[in-house]
Amino acid sequence: MKRLALHWQILAALVLATLTGVVFRTLFDGQAPDGTLVAKALGLSQFIGDLFMQALKMIIVPLIVTSVISGIASLQGVKGFGRLGAKTFGFYAMSSLVAVVTGLLLVNLIQPGLVDGEPNEVIRQAFDTKAAEATDAERAKVAAANAKEPKDFLDTIKLMVPENVFSAATNNGQMLGVIVFSLLFAIAITRLPAAEMKTLKEFFQAGNDVMITVTRWIMAISPIGVYALMFPVIFKNGPDVFAEMAKYFGTVLAALGIHLLITLPLVLSFIAKVSPRAHFKAMREALLLAFSTASSSGTLPVTMRCVQDNAGVSKRTASFTLPLGATVNMDGTALYECVAVVFVAQVMGIQMGFGEQFVVVTAALLTSIGVAGVPSASLVAILLILKNSNVPNAETAVVALLAVDRLLDMARTAVNVFGDSCAAVVIAKSEGERVLEDAPA
Ligand code: ASP
Repeated sequence: MKRLALHWQILAALVLATLTGVVFRTLFDGQAPDGTLVAKALGLSQFIGDLFMQALKMIIVPLIVTSVISGIASLQGVKGFGRLGAKTFGFYAMSSLVAVVTGLLLVNLIQPGLVDGEPNEVIRQAFDTKAAEATDAERAKVAAANAKEPKDFLDTIKLMVPENVFSAATNNGQMLGVIVFSLLFAIAITRLPAAEMKTLKEFFQAGNDVMITVTRWIMAISPIGVYALMFPVIFKNGPDVFAEMAKYFGTVLAALGIHLLITLPLVLSFIAKVSPRAHFKAMREALLLAFSTASSSGTLPVTMRCVQDNAGVSKRTASFTLPLGATVNMDGTALYECVAVVFVAQVMGIQMGFGEQFVVVTAALLTSIGVAGVPSASLVAILLILKNSNVPNAETAVVALLAVDRLLDMARTAVNVFGDSCAAVVIAKSEGERVLEDAPA
């Protein structure tokens, strides 16, 4: 019998986790007191989910290093590199800007934080209740972010030149330093005498092949990992999460939907001249994984594989655009930050004029560059922008948003990953590569 394709297996795991999560939630009223069977099942699920996430994260550093070095060392010197860099950054800046503006338009149009033009008191109270119900870990996370000196754009630039590349590699938030170091290393390889250059290129190419094989192994167990990640999420987040904030959830999801299903497909059709449907098909596994893990960094190995194996983007383009994209390009996150900040301001009775909203847009664009590709990372940036805009009770609001963040996080992470993959395709096409030509439309 033919084995079910992996993306169907992952989808089946998602559906099964949702069904069993809902059944268990209904049976046990969403409660799992210590020592009960359901608490043990949740614990086991969490454990397996953590193992799966760790396995994905385990391969990120060696994968980035080997793929960036082997991909870039094959470029024709620094000239080709500069062109690729300019195109990539240009695309990332433009697509994030369009995403943020989409979010801004919708949040102003729908006004999820107001009723009849007045701040919504029910949501304000819901903020307090949800903040009070938040777990200690959630509260501690926001408190720590609140106490920290804000990281600005210059700090992000500083991360590009780590004092110690090994400590940057061990610190999740500093992947940018690892990428820049690998780029330098790769460019330096192209300056070596031919024999040495060949040895190093082959070494890193072989290393990269090894990492791709390990990625395949990890992906083979991804349906189990996805089930384990999703089951506790569904168990813990009942429909009551959406009750007061339905309009806010609707606004975020609609804006993300427009970016994912209209804006980016238009870019694919008109700029790259490829079939958006074929590209969605090529990216199925990565999209499902991004959705289930809410981590674009964790999804990176699979994004790279889908973009190269299914969409047909060359290693040189994929290895430049994607690791960088997973670190600095987050369309969904930038859009979300903008909607969340304006929403909280509406609830708190702060009227944001054009000038203030312009500041929010700029801040969302700049901070999304520094947000790590891990679950709920953007909440820290949202707190920063709210404080910067002098919105009162920012900390309570952010704790409340964090408590109900998972679904929105899953959705924006999928958009983040899809945005990166579109950049890879557009840039590959502009470099004359034959992308998605053999894929069925
Ligand atoms: N979870 C998102 C990602 O990994 C980041 C965020 O918006 O919180 O891309």
